[in-house]
Amino acid sequence: MTTSAELFEQACRYIPGGVNSPVRAFKGMDRAPRFIERAQGAYLFDVEDNRYVDYVGSWGPMITGHADPEVLDAVRKRLDDGLSFGTPTAIETTMAELICELLPTIEMVRMVNSGTEATMSAVRLARGYTGRDKIVKFEGNYHGHTDSLLVKAGSGALTHGEPSSPGIPASLAEHTVTLSYNDLEAVEACFEEIGDQIAGIIVEPVAGNMNCIPPAPDFLKGLRRICNEYGSVLIFDEVMTGFRVALGGAQAHYGVMPDLTCLGKIVGGGMPVGAFGGSREIMSWISPLGPVYQAGTLAGNPLAMAAGVTLLNKLREPGFHDALAQRVDTLCAGLEARAEAAGVDMITQRVGGMFGLFFTHQTRVDNFAQVTACDAEMFRRFFSRMLDQGVYLAPSPFEAGFMSSAHSPEDIQKTLDGAEKAFDTLGRT
Ligand code: PMP
Repeated sequence: MTTSAELFEQACRYIPGGVNSPVRAFKGMDRAPRFIERAQGAYLFDVEDNRYVDYVGSWGPMITGHADPEVLDAVRKRLDDGLSFGTPTAIETTMAELICELLPTIEMVRMVNSGTEATMSAVRLARGYTGRDKIVKFEGNYHGHTDSLLVKAGSGALTHGEPSSPGIPASLAEHTVTLSYNDLEAVEACFEEIGDQIAGIIVEPVAGNMNCIPPAPDFLKGLRRICNEYGSVLIFDEVMTGFRVALGGAQAHYGVMPDLTCLGKIVGGGMPVGAFGGSREIMSWISPLGPVYQAGTLAGNPLAMAAGVTLLNKLREPGFHDALAQRVDTLCAGLEARAEAAGVDMITQRVGGMFGLFFTHQTRVDNFAQVTACDAEMFRRFFSRMLDQGVYLAPSPFEAGFMSSAHSPEDIQKTLDGAEKAFDTLGRT
């Protein structure tokens, strides 16, 4: 039997870092990434046939569990008709109508192939619509790897952004202002200074790419007010939160309405899909209706639409999201109790179907600086020990965890039993 470690070694010869997306590489961990052969419900099975209770869910889409039979069936049914036509298909309108119904701030929507494409296009649209260049984002929020959004803060709120990666021109990054998450005063100060140059604010309404950080009370409302005042476009990046923290996403959960919304992950049911949408007025600026160019050879792919439409319809079952949040509560409360019993400083934060674990003596974690003050080494040891116990957490202290409706009480109990052993040995190496 070929092991994960052997497969990883082979992969590293041909693929940079052995992976097609960096976080999969288990960087900083004391072992090679698991090579997964198949998945079912709450479980991943690796090439050595080890079974793991999975809290990554392909990084979010698998909200009803892996290999959902109804989603697979929908894809199978369309398969023999062909994979892609490059023409309009009826199912694209079915998908668009469904998204507009579930997220009423979206009156028109364009399908793309990834979350990155969704945010990239939304930012272009905000710039085109307002005729302004500057974008405000928040430190520790991740919006995919598009140039304008892969930018970190300068030394002060109003200094020009610096690229976070070689290959991004400084002359482009300087149009991105990065502020601290949950710091409304900084946003106000920034707009007072340069508000008339700001095309829009892009924000993860629950931050899920620096562990799991909910918005402070009134943070999102404040962003809405400021955007109204200055005529800037408020963009919610709901690639992660969409259909997960509530059927209507974080905007429904917190009752704050953005101008544009970016979607990904769940909307494609596990296929490569993203979407961006908003008011008819703003979306009318998109090509071919308007002058802002955006396109995609495989966008609205019929198999991907079939998977996404089927999954979204499943989530409409009354009580689905309450039950998901209940499972997250049981898991998080159980983890906190076991950490406390073992004398380990750990807290959890959660919103709906997403959660995060923080090894810290802080009682709340609100921003990037506080996340980076947590004990990352402790997390890594915990992660490895949980993997040994058959529990697959995201291999990074900066990622949120995802629950699915396929996680049974027994799966959660197994996770808690594993955590009890892991916490007990955490002090030791
Ligand atoms: N926005 C958010 C909030 C995300 O979490 C991600 C991916 N994790 C993206 C955008 C980028 O999506 P993709 O990886 O599909 O390009």
